[in-house]
Amino acid sequence: MHIASKYIQAIKNGEVVAFPTETVYGLGADAWNSEAIAKVFATKGRPSDNPLIVHISDFDQVNDFASEITEAAQLLIEEFWPGPLTLVFKKKSEVLDIVTSGLTTVAIRMPSNEIALGFISKTCPLVAPSANKSGAPSPTKASHIKADFGSSVLVIDGGSTQVGLESTVLDISGDQPMILRPGVIGKDQLEKVLNQRVLIDDKSSEKPKSPGQKYSHYKPKADVKWLGSEDEFEDTSSLFLLLNTEIKQQNIINYSQDFEKLARELYDRFRQADIDGYQKVIIEPFDERYSSSVIPALLNRIKKATSI
Ligand code: AMP
Ligand code: MG
Repeated sequence: MHIASKYIQAIKNGEVVAFPTETVYGLGADAWNSEAIAKVFATKGRPSDNPLIVHISDFDQVNDFASEITEAAQLLIEEFWPGPLTLVFKKKSEVLDIVTSGLTTVAIRMPSNEIALGFISKTCPLVAPSANKSGAPSPTKASHIKADFGSSVLVIDGGSTQVGLESTVLDISGDQPMILRPGVIGKDQLEKVLNQRVLIDDKSSEKPKSPGQKYSHYKPKADVKWLGSEDEFEDTSSLFLLLNTEIKQQNIINYSQDFEKLARELYDRFRQADIDGYQKVIIEPFDERYSSSVIPALLNRIKKATSI
């Protein structure tokens, strides 16, 4: 994968560069350069207690950050990397505090997107939180980054991202593996590979184990709500995203139970709803009975968008 030298040089100069991954676009900076990482926090307006994920392109690089690769970790790495699974390891003491927000663990992922892999392999491991202003929906297209930052942020344009939702975050630093953030790789898939029960972090707890989970995310300016009997499809100030019902109308998008497609498009629909001046985004309810591994992640993101 050819990556223009200006992007590579920018990372080497301690600047930030946005680049595509298969989940969402990341705002990349050298994972060993604290000044560059400080720029990531400042650019995004990200709270400093929300740690970053280190993105690697080479399996050996995990050893530079993680102090221990357990047998379980090895199984998961072999099965799911490169891919949308972030693993939380006990960290090496050299890992910068600004990366981990002072935690004793570090989150690492090897993305599968060819541009991401090429970019990291030509530079170095990169921290890369979603390349949006903190609080806005994650970017799934280069134009979303322009909308948040204008032309002040360099962007490698790789078109629309394939998954559309952020990675699954799995903590394997303790006795029992625990999902801290649901993503497209689901609990069942993880349990099958590990041959062990995987817990799910209880978001209602006062102090979520994944600090990022306590912050508002994913929300457009329009109100997001689940479809109820009070809602009228004739209300043209609302955008409807339907999963089961099919109605042809300008303010209605029909997904016909294609949950992967909804995941891919959700944040773009949120952003476009604001551009088009909709007051509300109304989503037809669905639950985990449908057999798609992306449903828990979709429910997690939509619930966050509706609860703010
Ligand atoms: P983002 O990069 O914006 O997708 O957010 C990264 C997510 O990973 C946030 O929810 C963080 O809280 C979480 N995270 C990063 N590092 C750690 C860690 N060491 N322990 C637990 N969660 C982490
Ligand atoms: Mg984010």
